[in-house]
Amino acid sequence: MTQASDLPMLPFTKPTMDEATIASVVEVLRSGWLTSNGPKVQAFEKQLSEYFGGRPVRTYNSGTCTMEIALRVAGIGPGDEVITTPNSWVATANVIIETGATPVFADIDARTHNLDMDKVEAAITPRTKAIIPVHMCGLPCDMDKLYALAAKYKLRVVEDAAQAIGSSWKGKRIGSFGDFVSFSFQVNKNIMTAEGGCLVINNEEEAKLAEKYRLQGVSRSGLDGIDVDVLGGKYNMTEIAGAIGLGQMARLEEFNAKRHALARHYFACFGDDFEAQYGAELPVADFEQSNWHMFHIVLPERITRAEFMQKMLDQRISLGFHYAPIHLFTMYRQRGFKEGMFPVAERVCRQIVTLPLFPLMNENDVERVVGAVESVLRS
Ligand SMILES: *Cc1c(COP(=O)(O)O)cnc(C)c1O
Repeated sequence: MTQASDLPMLPFTKPTMDEATIASVVEVLRSGWLTSNGPKVQAFEKQLSEYFGGRPVRTYNSGTCTMEIALRVAGIGPGDEVITTPNSWVATANVIIETGATPVFADIDARTHNLDMDKVEAAITPRTKAIIPVHMCGLPCDMDKLYALAAKYKLRVVEDAAQAIGSSWKGKRIGSFGDFVSFSFQVNKNIMTAEGGCLVINNEEEAKLAEKYRLQGVSRSGLDGIDVDVLGGKYNMTEIAGAIGLGQMARLEEFNAKRHALARHYFACFGDDFEAQYGAELPVADFEQSNWHMFHIVLPERITRAEFMQKMLDQRISLGFHYAPIHLFTMYRQRGFKEGMFPVAERVCRQIVTLPLFPLMNENDVERVVGAVESVLRS
């Protein structure tokens, strides 16, 4: 019999890297042009802009600063409120505090785990200036309701599309429409640059400002003209990251197709009665719009997540959890948030686990995970 200890450790995600990309990074290292708006970054931005329907795109060194910069470009700061979800990576809310504005949370939908747009509307006050929705696991938010609210209350939108490259809404690619759209190329995302991100912007005027915020607020003219008229930071993407991004971009469709196939196999293996049999919840089976960034299940309350994760680890399967509810972190509790405020997010965030899903996996890996999940839930 195969012992669990003989099996290779299966992580919940892992990047795919090819030799051509590695060679292109080496070429950058030899070229001497390692950073600051070099040819790789410029080519990457051009490809991204084409991918997003010709809208202006700027790259950055994270998918966090992209959101902070979008808020700054929108003129958001002290005294303003920005509505977001408690179910996200903490970056989504931290950037609001960074600008001096006040984060306001609205609860999520129990099935999609995305913002419940009715709850968003209920949270709008005269001080509300923007909404930061998250396309969780690549499943798009209700974009019709979102942009109807934005129009009705004259709000800016900064889509946290960190997980949503290649996702779409009613046939339109996320990023190709809407207001600001922020993507992350952190190593776990569907395409990655080790660390990095990009911001899709509405017009050239705002793109210029977003570019200034990227590098100390500097604008240049001629050979030696330089001025600073806004407070920028140090957020530019390196040529090394740009080279990785080009290599990844060439394989985006292939990566996402593989994720789709693996997600479909998960559904096939779990079968139609998994939810009824085990009291667990599968993700929304959206094969039209999602890019399948992650595959999560919500565990029944009879087992703690830590216990479940440990038992999976005993079978050499390492799970993630996305996410802990932001409003219950100490820094947010200190701002007055507490348990019971967003009950749907609190329940989902307590019991959610992320199963392995990445392009280098195969169908046997999926079967191994499903077998392990079912054996742990049966015991
Ligand atoms: C990854 C991620 C971020 C942050 O992106 P970084 O590139 O790590 O700064 C923000 N929001 C969500 C939903 C993410 O998944």
